[in-house]
Amino acid sequence: MKSQPISALLQTGKPIKSLEFFPPKTEDDSRRLFLAASRLKAFAPDFVSVTYGAGGSTRHFTQEITARLQKELEWLMMPHLTCVSSTRDELHEIIQGFYDEGFRNIMTLRGDPPKGSTEFVATQDGFRYASDLVGFIRENFPDICMGVAGYPEKHPEAPSMEEDLKNLTYKVDQGGDFITTQLFYDNQLYFDYVDRLSESGVTIPVLPGILPILSLAQVQRFGTALPEALSEKLEAAGDDKAAQRQIGVEWATDQIAELIDRGAPGVHLYIMNMSKSALGILEQLQARGYFLD
Ligand SMILES: Cc1cc2nc3c(=O)[nH]c(=O)nc-3n(C[C@H](O)[C@H](O)[C@H](O)COP(=O)(O)OP(=O)(O)OC[C@H]3O[C@@H](n4cnc5c(N)ncnc54)[C@H](O)[C@@H]3O)c2cc1C
Repeated sequence: MKSQPISALLQTGKPIKSLEFFPPKTEDDSRRLFLAASRLKAFAPDFVSVTYGAGGSTRHFTQEITARLQKELEWLMMPHLTCVSSTRDELHEIIQGFYDEGFRNIMTLRGDPPKGSTEFVATQDGFRYASDLVGFIRENFPDICMGVAGYPEKHPEAPSMEEDLKNLTYKVDQGGDFITTQLFYDNQLYFDYVDRLSESGVTIPVLPGILPILSLAQVQRFGTALPEALSEKLEAAGDDKAAQRQIGVEWATDQIAELIDRGAPGVHLYIMNMSKSALGILEQLQARGYFLD
């Protein structure tokens, strides 16, 4: 279970559902995370990923949380890893640690530039792009399955969508096994993206990333395209937090149902370490006939 490649799950033709946690920074946050995780047992995720803290700051927490969630909930886990602040040797050591623990799936990323800086600078003896790390893992750990990131609205640093797609194609050629997308609220962005990838010869699964909205302010901070119908609903809800969350649940449910109907391999839910929205979405989807087994 620990070592099953996610790429194989994605190719069964049965839609999958996965969750993403981020490493907690305090004891209280950690308690909350494990409480949410215990509730999410009912969600029965096909796999669960744990992000790698910006700047590599919470690296040890990623390892710790990944191992603990696997042990306590017996979930198939995928730790994230970035190139930030690590040399090749250090990255090799981290990957070896995951490998020795029995993990065979890694979400392989570059990471963001440090706060206040717009340009990513590679660590000396480290890597400049995620594709470098992907190639490194493929060469040194050939049986690790790698997820890579894709951006239906283009990565913010890329000069154009064409360039971004060219770079993603190279990242996949280096050994990426599946793509998980950045969050989006307009499904057409995903469908167009998958079409363009397929025109570029990229045919690996593209798992859509969905973040159930908690509030209008939260979604505005992401700077992602917000369909008018959605912003109107959120505005109408005013300051009513429960109503905003419910709108988020309903929107995500509709998004996921359409994505699956039109061929997406499943959904990856960004849950912000909370259980309520994810469970609400699953309940609604099951009432509509999805994810029943
Ligand atoms: C699903 C998902 C999970 C994430 N998880 C984390 C996480 O756990 N921790 C974290 O810190 N961040 C995470 N991020 C954020 C991610 O680290 C940032 O978006 C980062 O800025 C880019 O990472 P990447 O792996 O996409 O980089 P890359 O694939 O290297 O792309 C970065 C930029 O460089 C360009 N580029 C790539 N290759 C080349 C090349 N050869 N020549 C010129 N330009 C090139 C790309 O077009 C893009 O603009 C995640 C993002 C997603 C979508």
